[in-house]
Amino acid sequence: MHSNLAKNIFRKRLIVEAKYKTSIDSEEFVSNFLNKLSEFMDMTIIAGPFISSATGKSVPLHDGYEGALVWAESGVNTYIWTNSNFCTVDIYSCKEFDSKSVIEFIKKEFQVEDFSYQELPDPLHQDDMRIEVQNSKEKGVGVYAKEFIPKDTIVSYVDGQIHFAEKESEVSLYAENHAIPFHKKLYRNGFNSSSVLLNHSCEPNCYVKDLFFVTTMRDIQEGEELTYSYSLFCNSDWKHDGPCLCGSENCLGEILPWRKLPDEIKKKYLAYTADWILLEELKKKNKLESLFD
Ligand SMILES: [Zn+2]
Repeated sequence: MHSNLAKNIFRKRLIVEAKYKTSIDSEEFVSNFLNKLSEFMDMTIIAGPFISSATGKSVPLHDGYEGALVWAESGVNTYIWTNSNFCTVDIYSCKEFDSKSVIEFIKKEFQVEDFSYQELPDPLHQDDMRIEVQNSKEKGVGVYAKEFIPKDTIVSYVDGQIHFAEKESEVSLYAENHAIPFHKKLYRNGFNSSSVLLNHSCEPNCYVKDLFFVTTMRDIQEGEELTYSYSLFCNSDWKHDGPCLCGSENCLGEILPWRKLPDEIKKKYLAYTADWILLEELKKKNKLESLFD
């Protein structure tokens, strides 16, 4: 699994593979494509394009071309299999770029029929750039908005190891690193993101959606702390010692497992409750019985 070894170094890779329709019969096409891509992405060419043709060379593994370009911001390589109408474009950049528009550009240039792509670091596993972890003496560790973040934004992702435990109190790493339960006996740590550093609030502004996506419930203003309610994904024997310190107007006084929440709170936050808790409830009431026949 990918883990971000250098969070302070910005770099982004985009790998696109595609089946294309355009006719490529000269090195000129490759050279033009690389130059136009550089212009489109506003990159600074410092060397290249370097193009070579495999066709006619000794022991070619396939017919086609390869091209490379060095940018001040890093570089791009492309490999083209002309006998299979297949190409790959590998981009490495230390400057942010919009993957979607780059993919559209490649699709247009090659008249792409079918494509797949991958980004590294995986955007799913990265915190939204608008959030940051703060550690203050008064408030401890928390996650805050550096700027306005709209409702329904995925701000982080729980992406760590999965642990099995009969009881939540037996998850050994729980106390140190925190984990999100996603089943009554399965827990997941978040090592590469801030997903498990959000504090609890009885009036949260985020929740854990579709098991692992930390998502905003409403618009969040610059400087505001991001919080979720542990009660909306915990339903085990885990206990928080002492009173809840969330400070919200409707604080329940302690952090409760979901089953102990007052009904009106369960109702209010039903759409934000972890899928696994709802599923357990449905199973208890035999409402899913017919589906498993
Ligand atoms: Zn509270």
